[in-house]
Amino acid sequence: MANQNNTNQKVISPKLYIETYGCQMNIADSEVVVSVLQDKGYSVTEDINNADIILINTCSIRENAEQRVWGRLDVFKQIKKKNPAVKVGIIGCMAERLKEKLLEEEKIVDLVVGPDAYRELPSLLEEVDSGQKAVNVILSKEETYADINPVRLDKNRISAFISIMRGCNNMCSYCIVPYVRGAERSRDPKTILNEANDLFQKGYKEITLIGQNVDSYLWQDEEHHKSVSFAQLLESVAKISQDLRIRFSTSHPKDMSDEVLYVMAMYNNICNHIHLPAQSGSTRILEKMKRGYTREWYLDRIKAIKRILPDCAITTDLMTGFPGETEEDHQETLRLMKEVNYDLAFMFKYSERPGTYAARHLKDDVKESEKTRRLTEIIDLQNKLSEKSKREDLGKVFEVLVEGISKKSKDHFFGRNSQNKVVVFPRLNYKVGDYVEVEIIDCTSATLIGEVATKH
Ligand code: SAM
Ligand code: SF4
Repeated sequence: MANQNNTNQKVISPKLYIETYGCQMNIADSEVVVSVLQDKGYSVTEDINNADIILINTCSIRENAEQRVWGRLDVFKQIKKKNPAVKVGIIGCMAERLKEKLLEEEKIVDLVVGPDAYRELPSLLEEVDSGQKAVNVILSKEETYADINPVRLDKNRISAFISIMRGCNNMCSYCIVPYVRGAERSRDPKTILNEANDLFQKGYKEITLIGQNVDSYLWQDEEHHKSVSFAQLLESVAKISQDLRIRFSTSHPKDMSDEVLYVMAMYNNICNHIHLPAQSGSTRILEKMKRGYTREWYLDRIKAIKRILPDCAITTDLMTGFPGETEEDHQETLRLMKEVNYDLAFMFKYSERPGTYAARHLKDDVKESEKTRRLTEIIDLQNKLSEKSKREDLGKVFEVLVEGISKKSKDHFFGRNSQNKVVVFPRLNYKVGDYVEVEIIDCTSATLIGEVATKH
């Protein structure tokens, strides 16, 4: 891509290559970064060897997430050897935590920018141009990038994330997020609605409202003495169009209200799926984790979901080997899983994160081999529960939003139903972005297989 300047000379726009690790928040942040840099004339390339600037948006949540980034830096080193003019920047969660190490030990890193300083990227890149290393990892109490229209990097142009809040105030004892992403702040609902409307006008069919704890979203309009809760925001977004699906993540068990569940029940286009991370089934461990709820409270929230939204899929995050976790605590987690009957779970071994309460006060005392055994047990159980959940769908008809061509067969499409389960079915004459009624006739461990019932 080349711009023309007013003397009619060709100005070549510098090419940005961006790689993203970690959660949905990071994916959404990379889209903000591209927007900020595109405004200053940068263009995006998918070919790393063709880039003038390489940015890597990093994750710190577990040690292995950081290890992957260090591994990528070795690859960038080779690229920089061949082309010393290329600039390398580390952005996101590792920036704050590891700025000194990144700049001092990794000679190839020119730029380190934390999650609240992306507006500064153009001026920081100018500093790098003048031969200096540039750093900004200051966390903000206000920044929500509310006015920035993210440049969508997804391939299908059908589903997009909208960030509704940043940071987190919960301080779960194991978690690094509040340290690397700062305090919680909610974004102006007007800007969220504008972004959702704009996406719908551009043909998007599904948006996911994201934040670390969406249930504690709260916008306070001090001037008009009004406030907007998550339930109210969700309802306003759902009203944009029946043809726009709404999802959200992540819900927090201590804050998830019945009000949100009733709004979900009222609007067909709000998807029947709640991701409600339990972390552990043992109240003793939940207390040490500082999660702010007990096993009984969590199960009460599950009961409320099943009562108000009988067809709702429930998914979770679980962790094994938290400091002090005994075999009995682990068994309680297995019992919780069976009681809830999760449709899907993300399961991790506890990983001590420097600076957190747990790292400072609780000994990482569960042996690695024991963490692994417990993790294997919960994964094995979850595989059985996921399979059972899919078998229960046989014979049901779901509305599926078509996302693309199946990897395994070009004659089949894949999409997801409201419960967020992947469904594969014959393409016929449908296209990406259509809603199709599909009857489920079979399943594999990860996918529902169907045939077209009737068109939406
Ligand atoms: N805000 C969400 C919540 O509270 O449920 C989760 C955010 S975190 C990005 C995603 C998941 O990573 C957590 O639910 C937890 O299971 C896992 N996680 C966080 N810190 C961890 C750690 N130190 N070791 C292992 N897993 C961790
Ligand atoms: Fe981390 Fe807890 Fe905040 Fe989730 S709620 S981001 S686990 S501190």
